[in-house]
Amino acid sequence: MKPPSGPHAVIIGGGFAGLSAGWELVQRGIRVTVCEAEEEVGGLAGSFDVGGTRLEKFYHHWFTSDTHVLDLVRELGREDQVLHRPTRTGMYYAHRFFRLSTPSDVLRFTPLSFPARLRLGLLALRARRVKEWQELEDLTAEEWLIRLGGRQVHQVVWRPLLEGKFGSHARDISAVWFWNKLKLRGGSRGRGGEEVLAYYRGGFAALASQLAQAICARGGMIRLESAVTGLMVHDGRVTGVRTEHGPLPADAVLATPALPIVADLVEPHTDPEYAVSLRRIQYLANICIVLELDRSLSDTYWLNVNDPGFPFVGVIEHTNFEPPESYGGRRLVYLSKYLHESDELYRMPDDEVVRFCLRHLQRMFPALSPDWILAAHVWRARYAQPIVVRRYGSLIPPFETPLRGLYLSTMAQVYPEDRGTNYAIREGRLAGGRIA
Ligand SMILES: Cc1cc2nc3c(=O)[nH]c(=O)nc-3n(C[C@H](O)[C@H](O)[C@H](O)COP(=O)(O)OP(=O)(O)OC[C@H]3O[C@@H](n4cnc5c(N)ncnc54)[C@H](O)[C@@H]3O)c2cc1C
Repeated sequence: MKPPSGPHAVIIGGGFAGLSAGWELVQRGIRVTVCEAEEEVGGLAGSFDVGGTRLEKFYHHWFTSDTHVLDLVRELGREDQVLHRPTRTGMYYAHRFFRLSTPSDVLRFTPLSFPARLRLGLLALRARRVKEWQELEDLTAEEWLIRLGGRQVHQVVWRPLLEGKFGSHARDISAVWFWNKLKLRGGSRGRGGEEVLAYYRGGFAALASQLAQAICARGGMIRLESAVTGLMVHDGRVTGVRTEHGPLPADAVLATPALPIVADLVEPHTDPEYAVSLRRIQYLANICIVLELDRSLSDTYWLNVNDPGFPFVGVIEHTNFEPPESYGGRRLVYLSKYLHESDELYRMPDDEVVRFCLRHLQRMFPALSPDWILAAHVWRARYAQPIVVRRYGSLIPPFETPLRGLYLSTMAQVYPEDRGTNYAIREGRLAGGRIA
């Protein structure tokens, strides 16, 4: 197709937000270039090769309510690639495994007294009744959860999860963040109350690459390994970006990376206060260990580890969701931990990380032998999770910036929902539409 002429928009970042913005712009006839620092599109939903198939570096699934993904997939004519599957959820608590997939599992969850089990079961329903999230903005998740489910439920179920995910920030996390999690997980269910999640044939990488191809087919450009190193600004207006491969003039620039990266780019050109305001939101990093095994660990997809003695908060056996046949028969297990980039685990060499985590995994699964491991991979993301504290709404920077022609659509601006590809797509498309 002939490339569109006229105004040119540059998008910094080829994750789902950047690609979705690009898609929206090319459809409106705007000339687009997406600059992605990495060698592949997909961002945090990026992938690597396992047995000839792409697998996410960090476990990914969709909820059945993720309508923005489904709308996009439909536009690309790929509905038949979406896979819906029931999954099993469990919890490891006090050295025991518990299934927590259905309402009847909750009633059998013996670490809680019977009345507390009922309160836990009702909590998700009560959470879904909250219509105005604004009424939760002044509350921490802890305050709200104790109010809703009582202290015992909080102590056994929610506190370890919050601490596992947010560490020393656990007590500051907003009730809005937690409410959303409950709403999403509780809403993604089949008729029998079991959790149903969605995946894509070929993984999230397949969708990212089909979206990139669709952008190129309409005359857009995707530049890989093209980190934006600076902005070109004239008279308070952005006129382009500097990349590792030279300058790129633009009439509008959309920045989608994490806010501290954007702060570094704008700092030389704006009032210092603005860059400071972009750094107000803090992020946790994530480390994921991916094990390729010759056999399965359990029949659970998502196992919450409610024990602070473990260096990971989740054991996610991906091949209990997408079958092992997709990966040449290998069983794939993620061990996930959110942490500060200064954390020792984040800084350890990969082989030490694997050895260290394996020792702990063997405490949970004593039969697990190192011989089962066909390969191990360690992935790190510095900006993995914005820390959604009370009154988070007041910290979010607006779409427009003090530099004319520069706009922001980043993961940290997704609110009241938490980050996720569904919202990256929603926000990216909105941004593309506004710029057009
Ligand atoms: C452990 C983990 C599990 C997750 N699980 C799920 C899940 O199950 N389901 C789900 O939907 N979501 C999940 N997410 C969240 C999801 O991955 C993100 O919300 C989404 O991918 C964010 O997309 P984005 O485009 O906003 O940002 P990003 O994906 O971060 O994209 C930003 C892009 O900008 C690029 N970039 C950075 N600096 C520059 C520069 N200077 N120049 C050019 N490019 C640059 C980056 O390389 C990146 O590709 C998970 C995230 C993590 C960390």
